[in-house]
Order: sequence, then C-alpha cells, then structure tokens
Amino acid sequence: MLSARIPAGPLANKWDQHRSHLKLVNPANKRRFEILVVGSGLAGASASASLAELGYNVRCYCYQDSPRRAHSIAAQGGINAAKNYRNDGDSIWRLFHDTVKGGDFRSREANVHRLAQVSVDIIDQCVAQGVPFAREYGGHLDNRSFGGAQVSRTFYARGQTGQQLLLGAYQALLRQIGAGAVRMFPRTEMLDVVVHDGRARGIVIRDLESGKIESHSGDAVVLATGGYGNVFYLSTNAKGCNVTAIWRAHRRGALFANPCFTQIHPTCIPVSGEYQSKLTLMSESLRNDGRIWVPKAGGDRRAPAEIPENERDYYLERKYPAFGNLVPRDIASRAAKRADRLIDRADETRLATLQVEALGIRTPDVERTPDALSGGNQQKVVAAKWLATQPRILLLDEPTKGVDVGAKFEIHRLIRREADAGMACLVVSSDLPEVLGLADRILVMRQGRIRGELPGADATEAAVMQLAAHDEGGVPA
Ligand SMILES: Cc1cc2nc3c(=O)[nH]c(=O)nc-3n(C[C@H](O)[C@H](O)[C@H](O)COP(=O)(O)OP(=O)(O)OC[C@H]3O[C@@H](n4cnc5c(N)ncnc54)[C@H](O)[C@@H]3O)c2cc1C
Repeated sequence: MLSARIPAGPLANKWDQHRSHLKLVNPANKRRFEILVVGSGLAGASASASLAELGYNVRCYCYQDSPRRAHSIAAQGGINAAKNYRNDGDSIWRLFHDTVKGGDFRSREANVHRLAQVSVDIIDQCVAQGVPFAREYGGHLDNRSFGGAQVSRTFYARGQTGQQLLLGAYQALLRQIGAGAVRMFPRTEMLDVVVHDGRARGIVIRDLESGKIESHSGDAVVLATGGYGNVFYLSTNAKGCNVTAIWRAHRRGALFANPCFTQIHPTCIPVSGEYQSKLTLMSESLRNDGRIWVPKAGGDRRAPAEIPENERDYYLERKYPAFGNLVPRDIASRAAKRADRLIDRADETRLATLQVEALGIRTPDVERTPDALSGGNQQKVVAAKWLATQPRILLLDEPTKGVDVGAKFEIHRLIRREADAGMACLVVSSDLPEVLGLADRILVMRQGRIRGELPGADATEAAVMQLAAHDEGGVPA
C-alpha cells in the first residue's frame, strides 16, 4: 500500500505544522548538495530556480532546445488563487473544496489544501517575476470565472497564461544559470533513474545531438516531466509528453497511481468543422459571459436567432441549477453529449452530399476534410458552408485569389448561378477582368470611399481605372 507520507494533524494545519518541525539545512551546507531536476516546464523551471535561490547546486534537464519550449506554454485559460479580490465569498477552504470535487474526490486532500493555501502567494510571486496578468481598468488584477466554481478566481494573461507564466519561471531560471547556481542541459533525455539504498541518486541521460549516453549523480532527483497525454488517443499535448520518464521511474520502483487521473480538455473534443476545436476552447473561458442551450426539438434546422426563448433548452441551468453554465467541464461535456441535439450526423451528411453535388466539389467522399482538397475545392467548401445557411446576401472577398484557372471559372459560375436565382452577391475584387466579366453593377472605391458607379454591361477597363486613379476633375490622385 502506498504511503504518501502526508503529515499528521488536522487537515488545515498538517503542512504548516510539518514545515515548523522540519529539520533545516545550514545555508553553508546547502551548496554541498547537488539536485538533479528533470524537466523545465512550470514545475521544473520553478523548482530549479527556487532550489538554486536557496543555495543548492542544481542541474536541470529537458529534451527541447530551450526550457522555454516546455509544454506549459500551451496553457491558456488561467490559474486559480483564493485571493477573494471580487469579495464574492472565496476562501482557501472553498478553493480546496471545489478542487477536491473537480478531481472527482480522487486527490489527496491534505495536498490539495496546501495547493489552495499557496495559491494566494503564487500569484504575487508571478507578478513580481513580471507575468503580465490582465488588469481591470482601476489597475487591480482581473479575474475570470471558470467551470467548477461559483466565484471568480482565475487569474489570466489573455489566452496565453501558460506562456507568460513560463516566461516568468524561465527568467528566474536564467538568472540562476547566469549566477552559476543552475547548469542547464537542453536536448537531453532522461533514460533511467539510478537508485541506491532505495533512494534516487542519479539519472542516465542521452545527449540528443551527439547520441552520447552518460550518468549524472546527485543527492536528490526531482522528476518534473509533465503529463502523459499521448498515452491517450486524443491529446493536444506535444508528442514528447509521452510518459517515458514516469514509466522509467516506475520500473525502478516508484509507485504509480491513478493513471487515468487526467483532465478532460476541450481541445480534445474531436473536430467536427474547420474552426470547431478552437471555438470549443474559447467557449470555456467565456462560459459565464453567455448561456448555453440547444433547441428543445431534435433536428430543428432553424438559425439560432430564429428559435424563440420558450423553444430553447438551457440544459446545464436546468440540470445543475446551483452551478448552471459553470459546472465542471467533464460534467458539462457529458451533459452536452446527452442533450444530443447539437449535431444531427445524418442530417449533416445529407446536407454535405447535396452541397458537394450542387457545387461540383471534387472529393473522394463527404467525410474527407477540406485540407485534403485542392485550393479551388477548399474555396467551394467555404462557399458551401455559407450557402447552407440560406443567406439572402452573399459577401465574397477576393473569392478567386490563389486558385487555378479551372477553379476560378467554376467559382464564377457558382456566383452567377446564385445571382440568377435572386441572391444579392457582393464581390470585392482587385482582379479587373474578373470584375468586368462578373458584375451587373460596379462600384469603384479609392482610399476607402466609393468614387463612382458603372453598369456592368458597358464598363471598360479604362472607365474603371479612370475612377480608381483620378479625382472627379480628372486630376491624378
Ligand atoms: C491546451 C492546454 C491548456 C491548458 N490550460 C490550462 C489552464 O488554463 N490552467 C491550468 O492551470 N492548466 C492548464 N493546462 C495544464 C498545464 O499547462 C499543465 O498541467 C502544466 O503546464 C504542466 O507543467 P509541467 O512543468 O508539469 O510539465 P511540462 O510543461 O510538460 O514540462 C515537462 C518537462 O519535462 C521534460 N521532459 C519530459 N520527459 C523527459 C525526459 N524523458 N527526459 C528529459 N526531459 C523530459 C520536458 O522537456 C519539459 O521540459 C493546460 C494544458 C494544455 C495542454
């Protein structure tokens, strides 16, 4: 049975008491200890910088060419801290409680409590390191409300929180590298852990440029090698986040628990459209700024704006009134799947087949993603998506830019067909022969203003150029 060596005492005091009773290392003795930190993401870079600042000798390893490329840069939404800046009832206890719940009651409670405690100071440390957290108009740090919490406690730096945090940690690390307290080993992979008398005392590494394998010994080894996302079929982790370091430690005797204790991330929801996956992540951070609903009736094809209030199902608010749109993301995702009215697959395939035929899109089958098609056919897919919404006006900005002659001809034919069927098609183009060949009416613009109008049938290149290049009096502009 795993002993996590959690200190004794009442939950809220365990770690404070433990810290007060820990044996300290004399500052002069610290420089005699060598600590090997594997990983230079937010965990490894911070650990290396902090240990070096305390006086220990640190060696830090990562397989990327720079610590700055650790996968931590991918984090976007923000970092939670129980600062209660909004005075909305937040506290260390509430952050602890929400985190234990959000972790499906699988986390070690004492450690979660410690995390909630130190969250308050971490924000201040990051600010001191120069992390540009978003601020309100008055200058105070801003907060977002995220899923799983009824309070606003997420500190963020636009959509790049991880990148900005990592730059802060990286600068602290560089300072210690400059001071000679940390030796950095980029492009180095840990192959094995050296265990002596039951303690990790070294690592076997491979230089990824020369292929040379060597062993480094130390007094302690810190594994800060990140998550193991690529064990799963769907992951947005970098390919290197592949569990090898953790697995190698496990083979040397480290206990391995709860391998499925990993976060469901919206970026991993399978893509159902060209822009869908990124929109899913955006909606996570905007969750409390809008309301989430599906049509009450399955297969309702009306545009959202045409569906009246009483025909909308605000399913998260209905099922989880206390949290509503802010339920934890695993609960929200499962509920969205059960609501089952988001995408009607049969209807989607039928519509795609119709559009492929109507627009003459050349594709082996309708399941093929547009990036596998030629440029002209990709343009037609974009047009097909708009046409599927049955618009009354079609706005096209340089619709044939970069496509070959054949595709250009087909796109022109498509525009002509829609115009003949009564749709208003507004085409913005800098291709003069295209304009003359297509338009019923030509509006010539210069410096953001309409300079004249010509009927398409009689327009000539000279007449268009005259309006595009000259003032009314015929003076060149
Ligand atoms: C898209 C996305 C969005 C996220 N958004 C948020 C968010 O909004 N808020 C939040 O709190 N969290 C978020 N997370 C989670 C968060 O980013 C991670 O949990 C955290 O950054 C992990 O940091 P780390 O230092 O443990 O790992 P990493 O940053 O992955 O660093 C691992 C390090 O270990 C090294 N390494 C690994 N294996 C070896 C080996 N065998 N040998 C040598 N070196 C090795 C790597 O080179 C790297 O330096 C998000 C994650 C993703 C993917």
